[in-house]
Amino acid sequence: MKIKNYINGQFSPPISDEWIDNYCPANGEVYGQIPNSSTKDVEEAYKAAKEAFPAWSNTTLEKRNRILIKISELLEDNLQDFAEAESKDNGKPISLAKAVDIPRAASNFRFFGNAITQFASESHESIGQNAINYTLRQPIGVVGCISPWNLPLYLFTWKIAPAIAAGNCVVAKPSEVTPITAYLLGEICKAAGLPNGVLNIVHGLGTTTGQAIVEHPDIKAISFTGGTATGAYIAKVAAPMFKKLSLELGGKNPNIIFADCDYQDMLETTVRSSFSNQGQICLCGSRIFVEASIYDKFKADFVQKVKGLKVGHPSEATTNIGALVSKPHLEKVMQYIDIAKEEDGIVLCGGKRVTVTDYENGYYLEPTIIEIQNDQCSVNQEEIFGPVVTIMPFKTEDEVLEMANKVKYGLSATLWTNNLKRTMNMSNQLQAGIIWINTWMLRDLRTPFGGVKASGVGREGGFEALRFFTEAKNVCIKY
Ligand code: NAD
Repeated sequence: MKIKNYINGQFSPPISDEWIDNYCPANGEVYGQIPNSSTKDVEEAYKAAKEAFPAWSNTTLEKRNRILIKISELLEDNLQDFAEAESKDNGKPISLAKAVDIPRAASNFRFFGNAITQFASESHESIGQNAINYTLRQPIGVVGCISPWNLPLYLFTWKIAPAIAAGNCVVAKPSEVTPITAYLLGEICKAAGLPNGVLNIVHGLGTTTGQAIVEHPDIKAISFTGGTATGAYIAKVAAPMFKKLSLELGGKNPNIIFADCDYQDMLETTVRSSFSNQGQICLCGSRIFVEASIYDKFKADFVQKVKGLKVGHPSEATTNIGALVSKPHLEKVMQYIDIAKEEDGIVLCGGKRVTVTDYENGYYLEPTIIEIQNDQCSVNQEEIFGPVVTIMPFKTEDEVLEMANKVKYGLSATLWTNNLKRTMNMSNQLQAGIIWINTWMLRDLRTPFGGVKASGVGREGGFEALRFFTEAKNVCIKY
């Protein structure tokens, strides 16, 4: 399969005719090629977006709404094909792509198609001064959207949908590791009647294609989701050009379990929050802190449940854990298991590569639980982004609060308790952009989403995303 760029409504090869191999994580084989796009391809995409902007930014909200809803419907109509493609590209179970990734991509278009029709601007009467102020929310122009590989279409569309709903034209780059569903999205957008040039998709490496988007002087805003180091680099490159930036970065999220929680619900959800998508979700609760009085029971029950998870080919209905996204990523995750042992961590289960019959070269790893002795050890501080979690006991609320916050990241935190006073106290003090109490990854698209500290800058979701993708202009009229 040879993937092409989608520029000005046309599928085109890269100008250089250079290509990058694309691997299937489930069997380790090359099954396609993607463009190794250069600055020249990004320039073509920019020109198409710039040309499309005057008409698109003047398109009525009703028409924008209709097109976005149509994209959403076409994604739903093609659910099976998209889910299979996502799974083949990323290694995640097809069942997960079908239940979560693709439906969520469809919801992104539906949600922002509707949200733009409800996005009100403010007005303020300056009493005693005979003046009235009103604020326009104007689209920025051409914006860049860059997304990672873990939730490929889910996160790609989480940026594109609000950007185009708000009247911008987009130059977008999916991860080079998982390009396929972004490629298929081009066809859907065309079929839905999205005018040529409103969405341009350029494939390629981060350090060439991605960087060319960030360095482009006339791409005025960048919405980026990916690693913290990449985000820091993008901020440095973009700063002298005063670009608007939204940075959704890494996480190392605490999952804090008190003895007074609803135990069974907590246990089931903790298995999910630890190992969903092979632990490759920025929101996974990879640091588990358990109140000492239930620590031994939890440890035994959790290990037993996790040993029951089936690692297997992503297309099998019984598979719980599919393949990791790439060989280098698998090797990085496995290195952390070695580091954990050097730092006196005890591997309670997992830790080894899995050979799946008929798919011996796939990137499979056992779900791994490491009991740690010290919360400052590397496996409890650095983002591993794989099926590896740490557990350790705590005695008091103050102690666990300190450990939860003593990390450079601040994306999300989960708390299991039925104590209201504790809930309020800890929610106020946990350093994270998203707090879940007695649940995990329950998402309402109207809510702000994003992190603090090294987990990012800015918020997406709901009107926050529409605010990011527009400039506020205040007009003051004296009468
Ligand atoms: P990454 O930073 O390596 O790449 C992300 C994207 O940026 C890719 O499209 C890549 O090609 C591009 N890129 C890389 N270098 C670039 C550069 N110099 N200039 C411009 N673009 C560049 O991240 P990844 O490995 O694809 O994804 C995993 C990371 O994403 C993890 O750290 C994870 O926590 C994070 N993530 C965060 C969220 C969130 O919402 N906070 C969600 C999902 C994933």
